[in-house]
Amino acid sequence: MKSIKVILILIFPALLLSQAGDIFSGSRAWYHLEKQIELGPRYPGSPGHKKIQKMLMENGQALGDTVIVQPFTGWNPYAKTFVPLNNIIVRYHPEKARRIMLSAHYDTRPVADLDPDYSRRDQPILGANDGGSGVAILLTLMELLKENPPSIGLDLIFWDGEDMGRPQHNHEFCQGSRYYAGNIILPKAQEGIVLDMVGDADLTLYYEYYSMQHHPALMEKIWKLANELGYGHIFIPEIKSYVYDDHVPLNEIGGISTINIIDFAYPNKNHNVWHTHDDTPEYCSPYSLEVVGNVLLHWLRQQK
Ligand SMILES: [Zn+2]
Repeated sequence: MKSIKVILILIFPALLLSQAGDIFSGSRAWYHLEKQIELGPRYPGSPGHKKIQKMLMENGQALGDTVIVQPFTGWNPYAKTFVPLNNIIVRYHPEKARRIMLSAHYDTRPVADLDPDYSRRDQPILGANDGGSGVAILLTLMELLKENPPSIGLDLIFWDGEDMGRPQHNHEFCQGSRYYAGNIILPKAQEGIVLDMVGDADLTLYYEYYSMQHHPALMEKIWKLANELGYGHIFIPEIKSYVYDDHVPLNEIGGISTINIIDFAYPNKNHNVWHTHDDTPEYCSPYSLEVVGNVLLHWLRQQK
């Protein structure tokens, strides 16, 4: 009998903290990752790019309070052409002034410039991790938010034109977030999180340098929460590298305090498949998506 009492005492607070079914499923996020892979490469101008825009808009209309498509013109330095781009913004409680932002890029890279096979470097990549992983987590969160809406305002943003740049040309990357940062749809979020490359099967998440410069309190909060949820082996509270990603224009131009959750060593420091034709589901895992998604879900539920 004694052991039963102990179990009841332990379970009861856990039930109070979360509503039934409000659990982030890695297998559901994996479904959303595979759905994107089925569309093929999703670089601006490709058939897959049009298809994913349609998919995101349909999901946003079914699951969010409002969907806003923000069109603008981007530049592809490889093709040397202007391209029509669209940020897709799914809003919850669009009237609320207190709001947060979660975002990820949905475009994939038009070239595989780091592929070991030189003859295929001019061909587009599938972007399972680089593009697919962040979107898969946001779509899964949207399904949970439909059942249990957030209590504060929330903008879930799918960036376009993040990955068209040439190496060392930072201004050619992050075109969607830079456009948004100069054309913010009000009310403006006070803080935000960018997800990028979070599906790596060999996942290790370190503090990222620019994020620590701009919003150290949120970095520390997220890594502490991850540790409390049992993910201390993945979320390591040490600065490892700096990454020019969508959070940089959001902080520097938009004034939205934003951090980046990214595992830049894909799959690890001894082997790279980033910006190659091996950025496929084979190097990703449902568990990694679940870990990051679960941390974000808990953080969202804490917001009042
Ligand atoms: Zn990339």
